[in-house]
Amino acid sequence: MPQSDNNRPGGDNTDDAVVSVSHVCQSYGKTEVLHDVSLTIRRGEIVALIGPSGSGKTTLVSSIMGMLAPQSGAVQVLGEHMPNRRLLGGIGYMAQNDALYTDLTALENLRFFGTVLSMSKQQLHAAIPQVAGVVGLAKDLHTKVGNFSGGMKRRLSLAIAMISNPPILILDEPTVGIDPELRRQIWTELRRLTGEGKTILLTTHVMEDAQQSDRLIMIRDGMNIAEGTPDAVVRQFSAPTLEDAFIAAGKGQDAHHSNR
Ligand code: ADP
Repeated sequence: MPQSDNNRPGGDNTDDAVVSVSHVCQSYGKTEVLHDVSLTIRRGEIVALIGPSGSGKTTLVSSIMGMLAPQSGAVQVLGEHMPNRRLLGGIGYMAQNDALYTDLTALENLRFFGTVLSMSKQQLHAAIPQVAGVVGLAKDLHTKVGNFSGGMKRRLSLAIAMISNPPILILDEPTVGIDPELRRQIWTELRRLTGEGKTILLTTHVMEDAQQSDRLIMIRDGMNIAEGTPDAVVRQFSAPTLEDAFIAAGKGQDAHHSNR
């Protein structure tokens, strides 16, 4: 069904918006942790949220997924206001802490999470070897997850996020504990997925991940302080590298605070 104009947040060009966050504020108790955050993510993009620990990335991701209702402002995913239970199956989520059953094998974990998403036996039969291959776990499917290394658990979590072939993937720190070769393999797969029209939002501290994303959104103290392609962000801060741009952005914001 075509989106009506009524569904569109004010002002933005949201023709191919998959995620629209419009003037969202969130607080825990009296502490406001997201201040008037707005952003749009378009179909087929890889967008990286980057910012220091405690800057509000996870709270923002939770708001996008509908795990937290916005205290003010609005979140829309695939044209639907969040929170919305119907969209749970449309978002593949990889949390920062691997939520895995350590007494079960990797195969049993994949089957369990796929079944929760109402996948049939046939669908699981096709999807499990595919996603296990992508993350380099095809030979480890029968190993108990309790015996996995940290990196293997991250990879299994990523496979679970992809199991139902969702249109949107939200990946919280996806490459932590993953070696460079496999990181490259995962990026190849992420690119293949966006080539098919999937949309990916990730949070990261890893500069290589930021550099490879189509667009960066820098979060600091719960605010969206800079946004653009990696090259544009580097130019905006007249910095030699992306890392320098982040440091410059942080200093700029500290100065802004002390001038208020
Ligand atoms: P990030 O993902 O960037 O590390 P978070 O969104 O986890 O940031 O946290 C933003 C701020 O909100 C931090 O100051 C954190 O301590 C606080 N916070 C996060 N979750 C909760 C919670 N459930 N209750 C209270 N404070 C929280």
